[in-house]
Amino acid sequence: MKKLVSILMIGFFLVACNNESKKQIEVTETADLIVTNAKVAVMDDNRTFAEAIAVKDGKVLKTGTSEDILKLKGESTKTFNAKGRTIIPGLNDSHLHLTRGGRFFNAEVRWDGVKTLKRALEMLKEQASRTPEGQWVRVIGGWSPFQFEEKRLFTMEELNEATGNVPTYVLFLYSQGYLNQAGLDALGIDENTKAPEGSRFEKGPDGKLTGVLIAEPNPTILYARIGSLPPLTQEEMENGTKQFYRELNSFGITSGIDAGGGGHKFPKDYTGTKALADAGEMPIRLSYFLFPQNKGAEYEEFTEWMETNEVGHNGEIHLDHGYELEGGGEFLAWSAGDFENFLAPQPLLDRDRPTWRKDLKRIVRLHVDNGWPFRIHATYGETISLMLDVFEEVNEETNGKLASKRWLFDHAETVQEKDLMRIKALNGGIAIQARMAYAGEYFVERYGAEKAEQAPPVKKMMELGLPVGAGTDGTRVASYNPWPALYWLITGKTVGDFQLASKENQLTREEALHLYTKGSAWVSNEETVKGTLEEGMYADFAILSDDYFTVPEKRINDLRSILTVVGGKVVYGSEEFSNLNPPLPEVIPNWSPVKYFGGYQSN
Ligand SMILES: [Zn+2]
Repeated sequence: MKKLVSILMIGFFLVACNNESKKQIEVTETADLIVTNAKVAVMDDNRTFAEAIAVKDGKVLKTGTSEDILKLKGESTKTFNAKGRTIIPGLNDSHLHLTRGGRFFNAEVRWDGVKTLKRALEMLKEQASRTPEGQWVRVIGGWSPFQFEEKRLFTMEELNEATGNVPTYVLFLYSQGYLNQAGLDALGIDENTKAPEGSRFEKGPDGKLTGVLIAEPNPTILYARIGSLPPLTQEEMENGTKQFYRELNSFGITSGIDAGGGGHKFPKDYTGTKALADAGEMPIRLSYFLFPQNKGAEYEEFTEWMETNEVGHNGEIHLDHGYELEGGGEFLAWSAGDFENFLAPQPLLDRDRPTWRKDLKRIVRLHVDNGWPFRIHATYGETISLMLDVFEEVNEETNGKLASKRWLFDHAETVQEKDLMRIKALNGGIAIQARMAYAGEYFVERYGAEKAEQAPPVKKMMELGLPVGAGTDGTRVASYNPWPALYWLITGKTVGDFQLASKENQLTREEALHLYTKGSAWVSNEETVKGTLEEGMYADFAILSDDYFTVPEKRINDLRSILTVVGGKVVYGSEEFSNLNPPLPEVIPNWSPVKYFGGYQSN
């Protein structure tokens, strides 16, 4: 009896202490930042919604009712009223060419979001009128002719009429490029110019060049033109990087995973972002993978990078995981690249690339032996099946070491179910992007509507429990705007509102958001630190311009952030929060299209 009483006494005492310490926490722990009166999507496994969020030391301290959260308010706590708006965890595009996008941002006219071809041509005409001698008008991907009301491409007459004698290059995905006559002349391209294998300069019935460059399917003819355009200065590229990252923040993006890219050499071409990181000014958590540039010498390039760099090493900068090397990819060996050009027949590795297997195997082995994660570009199921042969071999030869490290496929538009099981067996993941939203009409033309219903089979990937991240593959084969990508995941429609995915392969809004937050965090090994607004996670979130969960589907495309927070710090504000915007320098050069048009076009 006595024993029972003392145990009860001790119990009461412990509970009292606990409540007390909680009260003390509640009393002592004050937040750095509080947002009340919101619809906070915590995105935890129970898909909890809260009314308010408190942040401390860059991390989520607590979510709950506004009344509860305000108890954590101290003298120096910043408080914001969301006026009932929706808060989501920061968006994370797990396959975006950020560092390259920033480098070129200030030089490019963005047709992303333009609603009519008429307006698109007007923008070229206007830009041509302010482009100085020696510079070019350029539109480098990120658009689809089906987004235009006119539902068609421009004619070369229209292009030449709009741009006159100002050299102009327009890229449509990695399928076709368009040079006006002034551009052909400036590059010295004529009827005798030889096109790289697997591509051609289109000729008209008169045997004269039309200005159309066709990848069949090899896009080198398109890349090479981009590389031959006059570069911006270092200062202008750094400025463009700031402008681009601010643009991404304006959509609610707080993290991005860089997939390297052609014509983008590490470390030489990463200086814009590196300068931001070294200055402690990164407004986005950026993880990056390295993409070899020298066909046939990729092994040597990776070996050198592995000797001089550490993966997963978080540079001594202001933001945890703010600028971090992740591993190799999205290309490992050029001979294993299958492009993504649905206007041309797909390459078949065993038929078209005799050395691909040997090239890829030794580079994958190099990654495994050095403990480097890797990601690999693969659009077609046929490519993935073959690559899995190589990965299974390497895994066998290394006693399961490949499966012990993080690795993933990118894209996987036509991956087969049997191969999803093989990926799972090797502990691999998949990062999918909204490329079909920009090229789906052409995919259906070539492969049929039925195949497009499951391209990629996202729902099946999730049902099999595979780690899946989402993104755009911006800035060239899709726009970098995340909202048309979420619209595509939810509705299965292109930016031209063409129906692709079957009902079974369409995601709920929560499922799509999950892939674009926590799902993507898996790609950089960060799903334990960000992607939801649970206590202790990075305080990366956005207050949205409208309620993502209830707004009519079509208007998902128009969503924006009005307040974006990374690590508890405001990186972007608009409407009543616009005075919180960190300073941003004037756009340079003064003829930059971004200075006059901005980035994504909403009209
Ligand atoms: Zn790719």
